[in-house]
Amino acid sequence: MSKVQALTSHIKSKISKSASQSSCYSLYNATNNKTRDKIQFATPEDIQQAIQDASSAQERWHRDHTPTQRSEILQKASYILTGRSDEITAHEVKDTGRTISEIKSYDVPAASRCLSYYANMPSILSNGTYHDIDHSFAYVKREPIGVTAGIGAWNYPLMNAVAKSAPSLSFGNSMLFKPSELTPNSALILADIYEEAGVPPGVFQVLLGDGSVGAELVASPSIGKVSFTGSVETGKKLCQIKAAAESNNFSKMTLELGGKSPFIIMEDADLDQAVTGAMQANWYSNGQVCSNGTRVFVHESLKDEFLERLVERTKLFKIGDPMQEDTEVGPMVSENHMNDVLNYIEIGKNADKAQLLYGGERVFSSLEDGFYLTPAIFSNCTDDMKIVQEEVFGMLMSVLTFQDEDEVIRRANATQFGLAAGIFTNDIKRAHRMANHLKAGNVWINNYNLGPVELPWGGCKHSGVGRENGSYDAAFEWTMGKSVYVEMDDI
Ligand code: NDP
Repeated sequence: MSKVQALTSHIKSKISKSASQSSCYSLYNATNNKTRDKIQFATPEDIQQAIQDASSAQERWHRDHTPTQRSEILQKASYILTGRSDEITAHEVKDTGRTISEIKSYDVPAASRCLSYYANMPSILSNGTYHDIDHSFAYVKREPIGVTAGIGAWNYPLMNAVAKSAPSLSFGNSMLFKPSELTPNSALILADIYEEAGVPPGVFQVLLGDGSVGAELVASPSIGKVSFTGSVETGKKLCQIKAAAESNNFSKMTLELGGKSPFIIMEDADLDQAVTGAMQANWYSNGQVCSNGTRVFVHESLKDEFLERLVERTKLFKIGDPMQEDTEVGPMVSENHMNDVLNYIEIGKNADKAQLLYGGERVFSSLEDGFYLTPAIFSNCTDDMKIVQEEVFGMLMSVLTFQDEDEVIRRANATQFGLAAGIFTNDIKRAHRMANHLKAGNVWINNYNLGPVELPWGGCKHSGVGRENGSYDAAFEWTMGKSVYVEMDDI
């Protein structure tokens, strides 16, 4: 067997221990359940050293580079990232199990665009505001927060790393980024790209490890802002860690958490479009998307026709090796996660007693021992079922019916989550009226799961606080205001 080299954190100072002296973790290939890379966890000494280095690097990054110079560097990073598209795609497919066609067509171009978008942002938004006050005047500057931290989930590792670091660095902060232990590669490549583009060492560092590494960042009084993407459960833990460290930690925190979003099909919708939308809202990324519209509310008059077309089209999905261009569904990210999803399918069948119309099975034939599942469609669902209430984060769609608009709005909002919602209708007034009443951070009308960088992204209720992306939202999230009053009279 060939010796597997351990991946190590990308930090400015030398790593404190060799792989044999510190904890390591094996990464499995989701397509065949075989070991591939090993990762070496950052030690507490590495983390503390990286925080110190991030602090001195940030001061120089802000003081010695004008917004225009930072902008040029980030723009260059965007070009380099596009040039390394094939390499990044291959790693991202292996790490996540998501298909090559998705990652090539969405993740890499979106990451490059995000870098380009924030490259130009500080020169527009850092200028602040000017105020005449009596005979004097004042101005408000937007200044960097200092050292920031990003903690990412495993489903969109590259996008998590870029969506957090591009605005942070662009506004003059430094960032310590902890990717999920399942998906470390794209953040490490991003660190190389930033350095090649001219970002000074220490401004963007990657710390590898499990949740304990993230917990140290959250507790650190030297970190001014944490941007977290992950589950509601971990988000709650972060709040507790911060509260326990509250005597010396008043940092800002953004939480991008899970969801159980409603996808609503009104009686006047274009049914084929609605079926396409529902599939996009449930099967994309093997069902592992936070904003997925997994509670599909279909008007009772359309139910039979909808289900027939949905099952027919879902059966045609090509499940297989995610490195093949024509594959539409790859493996789940890990064995544990696959088992969690299978467990929910059992609950749906046996405890909830919903009707499993199609799928929900592990697929083995010619796919080695990978973590492959067929998409599961449950009908005859009710609001109180566990599969309807809880986030599964896999290909499990629950189909519910309704009779009128007021009823569906009330039931769509009756959840602890508030990340996203979708409405399919051809009545434009109704579409806007419903969008007004849905309690969610993102609402799509006649489409689903789009997240252009121009639009702020985030949730309400247990789906989180704060926003990523957008222009003004990003400026407020990644900077702090400084008011300067200038007295023009004697006092
Ligand atoms: P987790 O909450 O398990 O993990 C997220 C990150 O937090 C990982 O890097 C994890 O490290 C780290 N972590 C775990 N425990 C702690 C801790 N105590 N302190 C600090 N950090 C910790 O989420 P998943 O990775 O499983 O991602 C899936 C979840 O993310 C779903 O609920 C999904 O809805 C949500 N999500 C939300 C998005 C949004 O924009 N709202 C976008 C994408 C996903 P490690 O992996 O090494 O344990």
